[in-house]
Amino acid sequence: MCHTEPVAPTRIIIAAVCAAAGFALAAVGGCAVGRHRDADAAPDAGPFVVVLGVAQDAGAPQAGADAHPGWEDPSKRLRAACLGLVDPRSGRYWLFEATPDFRSQLHDLHRAAAEASAPGVEPALAGIFITHAHIGHYTGLMFLGHESMGASGVPVYAAARMARFLRTNGPWDQLVRYGNIRLQEIAPGREIALAPSLLVGAVPVPHRQEYSEVVAFILEGPSRRVLFLPDVDSWDDMDAAGTPIESLLAGVDVAYLDGTFFGDGEVPGRDMTGFPHPRIRDSVRRLGRLPASDRPSIRFIHLNHTNPAQFPGSAARREVEAAGFRVARRGERVELAPAGDTGAGPG
Ligand SMILES: [Zn+2]
Ligand SMILES: [Zn+2]
Repeated sequence: MCHTEPVAPTRIIIAAVCAAAGFALAAVGGCAVGRHRDADAAPDAGPFVVVLGVAQDAGAPQAGADAHPGWEDPSKRLRAACLGLVDPRSGRYWLFEATPDFRSQLHDLHRAAAEASAPGVEPALAGIFITHAHIGHYTGLMFLGHESMGASGVPVYAAARMARFLRTNGPWDQLVRYGNIRLQEIAPGREIALAPSLLVGAVPVPHRQEYSEVVAFILEGPSRRVLFLPDVDSWDDMDAAGTPIESLLAGVDVAYLDGTFFGDGEVPGRDMTGFPHPRIRDSVRRLGRLPASDRPSIRFIHLNHTNPAQFPGSAARREVEAAGFRVARRGERVELAPAGDTGAGPG
């Protein structure tokens, strides 16, 4: 389903700006210049995004990483990177990624939706968006199947290769054949309308693509937009692909960006030269050059279990925060229509 609302004049202007920046969604008027307002206003009855996990695919501590303090201290354990989107008016909610931590993330999201929804509204999972076929991003789909929830017709939004991968490889094909999931193919440049004034667009991302292409998502509410880009090989590769990260940042209010590694040398005994992923230190250097008016709230997500910035109060975390960036925190929310925000246009 493609967004079919009439295009307002401001959106036409905005689309032109974004087209100049090479933004894929601009072709359908799907790119807007963000307002970069305070993104942590008090909750209201509008849609919101909630962070459900911040770790790299394998979580923290990772299997075999016996020195991680999370084994002794549960507060230092991290779930795989995942966002939830809630529309309290309808009670419907969506997951962005089906991670190995699907069980607890679905539970947390359901609870958040139940607390935010009006009395009498029954919260329900309305769909799952998948960025790509690496283990932390889709394997949680197994919990929808016969041995677990036995779900019926849950829409799973995925780009063409990702959808084909699920349709043609076991055990995922069984979810399709049994009707547990209903694949909804998405195409970059075409927005999915989840509700009036609640849209999701996909942007192609250069990242190793063994089984599927890779996308980032832009979640658009009545007056705010959030970028979810948990995995990328490098910002230079995005430049080469004609989608500089800055062009995406210009259109959103909050950006959750690949923060897998803090810097070289953090993985003991490994030469990290060939490891993809921009280092947080390099991202801070590059994106710190943006004028404040062009920089949304940037929050690093998808942290590897070796990343020192995962620990609040660490020198690495302080370095990130001192530069005006953040590390995403499980449970934090972004209101997409905060009270008093009219959505009247860029300001
Ligand atoms: Zn990943
Ligand atoms: Zn990946």
